[in-house]
Amino acid sequence: MATKPGTLKRRSLTERHEPEPITYGQGRGGRPWRRLRDQIMERDGYLCQCPACKKRPVPKVAHEVDHISNKRGPDGRLNDDPSNLAAINRDCHKAKTQAETLRGRRR
Ligand SMILES: [Zn+2]
Repeated sequence: MATKPGTLKRRSLTERHEPEPITYGQGRGGRPWRRLRDQIMERDGYLCQCPACKKRPVPKVAHEVDHISNKRGPDGRLNDDPSNLAAINRDCHKAKTQAETLRGRRR
C-alpha cells in the first residue's frame, strides 16, 4: 500500500552526512564575535541588507549577521571585516546559504 518508508529514511540519513558550509555555532559563539555582530546590527538598523530586501520599499527585519563573501583567507578564516558583514533576515539567510551550497556542489 504505502511506498517503502525504509528506503526513504536511510537516504535522508546519508544526506545529513555532507559537510555543512555554515560556520556559525562552531567556535564562533565567543564574545568578540557577539560584539561585532551587535555593531553590524546597529549599523544596519536591524534591517535585512540582502539584495532582495534592498529593492523592497520595506525591508525585512534582520535576525543575524551574514558574511557577504564566504571566501576564506589564507588562515582558513572568514573575513570578519565590517565591510564584509551585513545584517540579514533569517529566511533570506537560509535562501542565500542554500544558493551557495548548490553553487558549490556544481563545481
Ligand atoms: Zn532579505
